[in-house]
Amino acid sequence: MKPPQQTTMSGPVHLSIPALEPVPVQGCKICAALGRQRADARRAGNPSKVTDINVEIRRHHAEEVS
Ligand SMILES: [Zn+2]
Repeated sequence: MKPPQQTTMSGPVHLSIPALEPVPVQGCKICAALGRQRADARRAGNPSKVTDINVEIRRHHAEEVS
């Protein structure tokens, strides 16, 4: 039995993640390096670099999965 107020799946799925911030995977050397670069970029006040690194972190694992 489904609750009657459930309509389409249009609501946001992510709950507590504020921005596009993939978490570096433990034990992954690429993530470790990228995570360090991301921290450096953030400290240097370079949000576009942070975004680039976030994309890289996500992408190299996305390729692994498929
Ligand atoms: Zn990784």
